Amino acid sequence: MAAASLPPAAPVTLSAEVRLGYVLKHFRLAYPDCPDVRIGYADAQPQVEIAAGSGDFFAGNTPYPAAPNWREWLGRQVPFFFDDAPSTPLLLFQENKVIIAADIIAAAFYLLSGWQEYFSTERDRHRRFPYAASVQKQYDFVTLPVVNYYFDVLKTAVEYVSGRPLRPRRWGQQQANFAAFISHDIDNLRSAWKAPTKAAFQQRQFGLFGKLLWQHFTQPDAWDNLEDVAAATAQYGARSTFFILPTHGRASDGTPNADYPHSIQLLQRLHKLSEAGCEINLHGSIGTALDEWQLGYENGLLERVGLSGGLRFHYLRWDARRTFAVLSESDFVFDSTLCFAEHFGFRHSYCLPFYPFDFTSERATDFLEIPLNVMDATLHHPNYLRLAPEEILPALTPVFAEIKRFGGVASVLWHNENFDPNNTQTGPRQFHEIMRHLQQQGAAFQTGREIWEAYTAEPAAPTHNS
Ligand SMILES: [Zn+2]
Repeated sequence: MAAASLPPAAPVTLSAEVRLGYVLKHFRLAYPDCPDVRIGYADAQPQVEIAAGSGDFFAGNTPYPAAPNWREWLGRQVPFFFDDAPSTPLLLFQENKVIIAADIIAAAFYLLSGWQEYFSTERDRHRRFPYAASVQKQYDFVTLPVVNYYFDVLKTAVEYVSGRPLRPRRWGQQQANFAAFISHDIDNLRSAWKAPTKAAFQQRQFGLFGKLLWQHFTQPDAWDNLEDVAAATAQYGARSTFFILPTHGRASDGTPNADYPHSIQLLQRLHKLSEAGCEINLHGSIGTALDEWQLGYENGLLERVGLSGGLRFHYLRWDARRTFAVLSESDFVFDSTLCFAEHFGFRHSYCLPFYPFDFTSERATDFLEIPLNVMDATLHHPNYLRLAPEEILPALTPVFAEIKRFGGVASVLWHNENFDPNNTQTGPRQFHEIMRHLQQQGAAFQTGREIWEAYTAEPAAPTHNS
């Protein structure tokens, strides 16, 4: 399979009001106690005035804006796109009014909406938008949640005109500073024996080869470990969210789906895990990101175990031009597919859940995206990063610190096969290091459904300032 190229997408006609509304919706979700302050461009005579800087960019179909201007904020160098006045101070405080010199609404819309993915014609061999084609890669900011920094600028302005401090979202009963979402894609339950048995044969260690074959036929596979995975996560007071792949064998393009058949016994085990507080969701097989019928059929196969309404696509397959239409025909309430497979961090430069923008219907989606920040396979894989085991937690610590700073969700995917003690690169030891760190940092461990419920709970009515 080679990298693919798409035809250019036709331009869309998005008004500045639509972009502003989309961004402010997310700002108010990030700061739920935000008072009712008027924020906008000069023509609306707002209290927080944004300098318009996007020109006719959003009337076109180019994937990338002009290079950003870098400004310091909260001690970080932050890229500001659509910043027409680089030598002007970012904030101009007037009586009862603040002017923001960079168009942070346009820049936040650009990153959060996924504009670059929709208009880019580049796709990798799995037909995903490649990290190599992203502005995050081009300007090296994939580990910085830039939209949260823009929101912090906006928060400072709102605090000035309202005279009230704003507090980021809090999570769970303990009102924690951030949440952690621990999930497991179940691609393999039966293949732990394959690699060591093949290696023993190739190295002509026939005694070992025979022993491994005997074990394979007489003992459960080391990857058939769903209950052990749930127990490992439970050590931290967390509950696992599982994504189950009900399609077995290879897809028509040769990509493997599950190595295990869909069976009554598996459904019974999943039902027990669900009763014990774990969460069971669909891991959509190859092709389901383009096919609402197949997606609905697969979800139906799991229905009796008590599903939680979540979804992640196998191989993180996602078509930025078609998957929204597929999901709009379905009942999923949240998805957790969106990350760069090639690098940990923030694909939409945002560390909270968000509603992706559907450019075909020109509105925010109904389902909530809980973006993925860390996938085990990214950390040590010949195609991605090649971190040594002791480099993993130090590499991730700054990412978790950014998430904590802004009240976000640290979303970690650890496949069940990587709980095999024979995996010393991205295995149980590295998983436990990450979990201990998140616990020490005070994360509220939440399942996908709990995050969705907290995010969609009726907000308190905005308080008017006098
Ligand atoms: Zn998968």
